[in-house]
Amino acid sequence: MTTRRLRLLLCLLLPLAFLLAACGDDDEGLDSGGGDGGGETTDPEVADTEFDDGTTMAELSEAGAIKIGVKYDQPGLGAVSLDSEEPEGFDIEIGKLVAAQLGIEPDGIEFIETVSANRETFIENGTVDIVVATYTINDERKEVIDFAGPYYVAGQDLLVGADDDSINGPDDLAGKRVCAASGSTPIERIREDYPDAEPVEFDTYTECVDQLLAGQIDAVSTDDIILAGYAADPQYEGEFRLVGETFSDEPYGIGLEKGDDEFRSFLNDTLEESYEDGTWESSFDATLGASGVEAPEPPEVDRY
Ligand code: GLU
Repeated sequence: MTTRRLRLLLCLLLPLAFLLAACGDDDEGLDSGGGDGGGETTDPEVADTEFDDGTTMAELSEAGAIKIGVKYDQPGLGAVSLDSEEPEGFDIEIGKLVAAQLGIEPDGIEFIETVSANRETFIENGTVDIVVATYTINDERKEVIDFAGPYYVAGQDLLVGADDDSINGPDDLAGKRVCAASGSTPIERIREDYPDAEPVEFDTYTECVDQLLAGQIDAVSTDDIILAGYAADPQYEGEFRLVGETFSDEPYGIGLEKGDDEFRSFLNDTLEESYEDGTWESSFDATLGASGVEAPEPPEVDRY
């Protein structure tokens, strides 16, 4: 896969970081949405659908409100804009699409910050109705929640210091301090498949990136698309190198309460419609694409 895709990401994102830094404050043309990686997003049209009584769709639609768990610190995917103080990114757009299909106006959406480790709990205890947060679909998580999607497939990768040429893939991690978020698939994979590495965990990837900057750790490991966002962030210009050798598939799903099959079908329909009518692609283009990343073909949803 993935080496080709990553090369594309790197080629496109790293020059952008340089360009943004070189442009100083005058970055309006590249970031017209005013956010962290946000391009020009438009609110999707709010549907006027009647749902069967007793379904989650009817409940949410009648309430005109939905709580969506998202990340706040992943540029291009889910990050709080310094300008608007609202979360922005591709995951946020997926959340908005779902709300619109439920007939919920944008002001009925409450975005709630989740970190990797509390996503299942937030769904199980009703803190959120759904989670759209770089959330890998896997069997372990499916024991407690369900997933619609996937709506994107990332791959685990490594971010290292710009001058560090000792790490060029996961086989170079023996004796290296590798940071990932608690409760994430990357930290588990480091522990299980690379036992000679020294895992270091924090709640968020920002903390890992700060540790890398401070020389306290040797690498940050998570999904390529997340790391690419940090590598392209002008505030880290020249600091990091994205290794570009992915070593997993991370299919991103929308997390929902376990056993709510009607709602899962509705979410899958919503994703499929967005693939067909072009809103998935325009959402990608307006967020991750604003950094020059080309939208891939959307993955097929898995109606398990
Ligand atoms: N996609 C991976 C996961 O769900 C890593 C990214 C994250 O921690 O959100 O665990």
